[in-house]
Formats: sequence, structure tokens, C-alpha cells
Amino acid sequence: MDAPQQTFNDELIDFLKCSPTPFHAIDSMRLSLEQAGYKRLFEADSWQGLEAGRYYVCRNDSAIIAFSKAADTAETGYKMLGAHTDSPCLKIKPTPEICKHSYYQLGVEVYGGVLLNTWFDRDLSIAGRVTFKTTNDELVSQLIDFEKPVAMIPSLAIHLDRDVNTNKTVNQQTDLPPIILQLPKDKSLDFRDLLLQLIKAESPKADAAEVLDYELSLYDTQAAAIVGFHNDFLCSARLDNLLSCFVGLKALLESDSNKNTLLVCTDHEEVGSVSSSGAQGPFLKSVLERLTDSAENLSRCMDRSMMISADNAHGIHPNFADKHDANHGPILNKGPVIKINANQRYATNSETSAVFRELCAQADVPVQSFVVRSDMACGSTIGPIVAADLGVKTIDVGVPTFAMHSIRETAGAWDAYYLFRVLKLYFS
Ligand code: ZN
Repeated sequence: MDAPQQTFNDELIDFLKCSPTPFHAIDSMRLSLEQAGYKRLFEADSWQGLEAGRYYVCRNDSAIIAFSKAADTAETGYKMLGAHTDSPCLKIKPTPEICKHSYYQLGVEVYGGVLLNTWFDRDLSIAGRVTFKTTNDELVSQLIDFEKPVAMIPSLAIHLDRDVNTNKTVNQQTDLPPIILQLPKDKSLDFRDLLLQLIKAESPKADAAEVLDYELSLYDTQAAAIVGFHNDFLCSARLDNLLSCFVGLKALLESDSNKNTLLVCTDHEEVGSVSSSGAQGPFLKSVLERLTDSAENLSRCMDRSMMISADNAHGIHPNFADKHDANHGPILNKGPVIKINANQRYATNSETSAVFRELCAQADVPVQSFVVRSDMACGSTIGPIVAADLGVKTIDVGVPTFAMHSIRETAGAWDAYYLFRVLKLYFS
């Protein structure tokens, strides 16, 4: 592994650590864009007469579009890249307090397709967005992160569940509430008061008086790490799909600003993308409409554009190889994967696939393809949603991983950098 790749992986590991929730991921991306000279636009402002330049716009603090406006877009189109900011996790319920046998626990909702067994016996923390009232009765939203481990979900001992290794099921209502502390008898604790204490300690100037509401998730405090006797693997939470967000951002930042390029990272993919900040919402279309002077020119622009939708793929697992089609089992560290599905669960077609293959060849990066076994259901991602909404040529790609939706997923230590090299070339 050469120095640039080493630095790239170190930065990816930092990004994963700073991004326990979509809100934090957007905040990290925003900072990088600011540092690179991107100017922030607000949806509520007028964009009339927007000059050529590099801009970004956020929605709901959990989705972002960054773009470079250069030549006439109707004549050239946009090179676009899409990814999603959310990952399956456990979210804290609005009235979460549960007190049993001296233990203070939090009620949680399962967000997306969580691989639940992996959440037991981990050192968990809590992060997200809190909206509070100040002493002047103003409403303020702020990101918070406890950072240290403050919760865990203990397994039941094997002696009390003899069938656990052959027949383990997880009840989402009763088995998951994490324990966060022990309370003396007859004492109670309001979770919002606990949050208020944290905000007051961390941001005394925020003048917080009362926590009204929050969107908080649990996350594993174990940092991302390079693993393996020869450092072949990258293990972390939220590789799906923060890895693609980071790769896309780096490729955009290192690309030529004289091209029309665009990065869109949306929320709520893991629950179907139907939200104002999800890929089925109007965010991307609305931004593109505002960057084009007429409906006809937007149609011309889209016909000349391309979208690469990047989301991780399933690498063939050596212990479960029969879960893959024998000819389409992507291998970690053998390059990005083109995802194909005849039933349009992926938006790839032969033309977009050929363009991507050619980019990989020019970047001297290996490339693989994935098709699900014909007797199994196929997953999906934002590619088909964007393709159907905009009518833009689209391809679904991603790096191969193990244990998708586990609290700790595994990718190849080479693949993120491979994908970066291809996307940098695409944007240039
Ligand atoms: Zn994903």
C-alpha cells in the first residue's frame, strides 16, 4: 500500500469515527467542502443569476448536494454521483424511560434492516440531533454525541438459553432496550433532563432551557480499523454507505472544477428513501431545476448526464459461498462491483456498465460484476429511484463487503481507494 492510499484510508477511518449518524456525516462533509472553497447555498434564498463556481446545499441536516457549475449544462450535462448517508441502527423512542430491577433502560426502535444479533455485548454510545428551547424561548437544533460508551445490550447467558446456538431469535420490542445506568430505589430520571445536562455542559453559550425532541441513535464506540495478518481488511460500523459518501466526496474535491459535476448524498435509503431528504423526495430534482433556465434545457441536460449510484455490494463469503451465483461472486480487494438486475432493482444497463468498465480500465483498476442468484430476492438502492425520477442514464456500483448491516462490516483495504481512482477520473 503506497503513501497516498495509506493517507486515504486514514482519512476514511477518521470520517467514519466523526460520523456516528447521518447528521454528523453531513457536518463532516460540509466542513471539507467549506475548506475546499465550496460556497453554501440555502434553499430559501433566490439562486437567480448564480455565477459559475462550486456550491453545496443541505436539507434536514442529513442530505447534501455539492456541485461545480461550469459550462452550459444543457450542452454538456452533469457527471453525477449518488450515495446514502443513513445506516441501519437502533433509535431511541420519544418516551424511552424503562426502569426494571434497578436498571434504567431506553426503549428503542429498529431503523432499517439491522443484523440484530451483532448489537449485543458492544460498548455503545448515543448521538444525533436534539431540538431545545432556550431561556429566550427560541428553538435551536444541535448535534450531540456522548462519545464515551454509555450503554450496552447484554446477551442472555447460554445457561439460561440452551438452544441459543441453534435457534436464536430476537424480539425487537423486549430483547433490545439497552441498559444505561442503575438507579437508587424510588428515584426516577427523565431522559430529556439527561440530554439537557449534556448540552449545558458541552455548550454553555447555547443557553438551553428545555429539551423538546430528538432523533438519537445508538452506535458502537469501537473505532474503524485495518485488520488482517497482511492488513487486507477494513472493519467498521456504517461502511454501508458512509464509505461511498467519503469516496464520492474525495473524488469531487480532487476533480477539475471546470466540469459540471455533482455529488448527492441522501438520507433514509435503508427504509425506502421516501422522505424530504431521501432519494424519492424532490431534493435533487429541485436543485437541478434551479440550476437550469427552462424545462426543455433540463431535459437536454439530463439526456447528456450520467449518474453513478454507489452503494456497497455483497462479497462472496467463503463460509457461505452457495449464497452467490458461482459466476458472480465479488471478492474483496478485487475492485468495485457493477450491480446488475434484469428486474431493475439496479439501474445499470449495458451502456452505463460499458462506460464504467472503460473508466476502470483507464484508471488501471480491476472491476467485477454482481448478479443475485436467480432463486433469491435482490436488494436495491437509490440508482433505480433517481433513474426513474430524472430519466438519467444510471449505473449501480459499490465495493464488495462482508456482513452488510452488521454493527461491524468488513470491506477490502484496497477497494475504497480503487473506487476513488475511478470516480476521480469520471469527474475529470
Ligand atoms: Zn446501502
